Amino acid sequence: MFGAEQNPGEANLETAEFNELESAVRIYCRLFGRIFSQASGTIIVDQDGRRYIDFLCGAGALSYGHNDPHIKQAVIKYLQVDGIIQSLDLHTSAKLSFLRALRDVILRPRGLEYRVQFCSPSGSDAVEAALKLARKATGRHTVAAFTNAYHGVTLGSLAATDNSRLRASAGVSLDCVMRVRFEADSGLDGDSLSMLETKLADCSEASRPAAIIVETVQAEGGVNVASGDWVRRLADLAARNKILLIVDDIQVGCGRTGTFFSFERAGIEPDIICLSKAIGGIGMPMALVLIRPELDVWAPGDHVGTFRGNNLAFVAGAAALDYWRMPAFERQLEVRSRKMRTQLIRLLDQHPDHLKEVRGLGMIQGLVCASPVLAASILRSAFARGLIVELAGRTNDVVKLLPPLTISDSELEEGLSILALAVADAVQNACVAVQ
Ligand code: PMP
Repeated sequence: MFGAEQNPGEANLETAEFNELESAVRIYCRLFGRIFSQASGTIIVDQDGRRYIDFLCGAGALSYGHNDPHIKQAVIKYLQVDGIIQSLDLHTSAKLSFLRALRDVILRPRGLEYRVQFCSPSGSDAVEAALKLARKATGRHTVAAFTNAYHGVTLGSLAATDNSRLRASAGVSLDCVMRVRFEADSGLDGDSLSMLETKLADCSEASRPAAIIVETVQAEGGVNVASGDWVRRLADLAARNKILLIVDDIQVGCGRTGTFFSFERAGIEPDIICLSKAIGGIGMPMALVLIRPELDVWAPGDHVGTFRGNNLAFVAGAAALDYWRMPAFERQLEVRSRKMRTQLIRLLDQHPDHLKEVRGLGMIQGLVCASPVLAASILRSAFARGLIVELAGRTNDVVKLLPPLTISDSELEEGLSILALAVADAVQNACVAVQ
């Protein structure tokens, strides 16, 4: 059914045309060398009609799957009545509906009060805005960021990102960041927050960080889950030291960890929150920063961007929040998460010499492999069998799974069964290679 005979990276005439026409910077297409043309829900189809289960989901942007019918219908309806598409930061009715939905469905029920800043529609720009705002609000320059963190690739966000290859591509020095060990960064001893306290004690008032930026679950960094207790202690440390706490929920917000915000399990209220990716409903680009009202010290025009008024994203984003009006939605996330975890732990038990750990929270789960080579082999075999997964971690040794939050039971089971076959293939190949 899935064409296991196909070589995932196989080049044909048309993919060669991409090589000629498109920059060498692209990366996912090198792993999944097909031309994709249609998608619905969990399934993405290439132009030869081959179907793949998509556990990559636009790196988390497609949390409601491809072309979710309810969200798509709202967008089609809006287009049909000539709704405004581009509006800079003008007031529009679509934006008002989105803001109201975010307030009424997400923020108020959680007792949260934030102002919303719309940014240029990339996560990196939301991080840029959050860091600039923290610097402006405190008058300080440094920000603390964690080992294995990923916050984007524009200069400010890249300075906070910990990936050495990406940092090297900056071409200039990336300053004003204090690097701190993340809780789950294995291989290093000592309590990361005590170490941070010690560093802070050495700082003058002016050199103390303006903010600490954290992903409570590091997605690109290898699906590293900070415990609720650690996140609470971090928030307390930040408050005691008058340092702003920024939670980057760009990848793991919007329900990915089982609750709308990834930090809900810790019961904290960050000063600033970055959201992007799934906030746009069906992959419509949108990025925003949630700001505690008293921190909204921006002067008009301090941080701008042409595409911060993407009304199709407002319409799609508001329709996506309808899922959150149904209490059953969060319960379903819990059931699906448990199913994922059970299957992955079963795999771990079956291959103790090749798989090291299952990490994750809610519907972001990672299978830690004994080597990056094995992880790459699982990815290739999965693709050949009709499943798209991503790799994460400092050495790309983690197979990261991000199925749609709305996935059906049967598709989830099918995807996990393909993964099991792909792991078996990769393990077998690894055993043959050492013989
Ligand atoms: N922060 C996090 C946690 C992310 O996962 C990403 C994207 N992977 C970004 C920031 C940057 O977002 P973008 O790629 O849209 O700039």
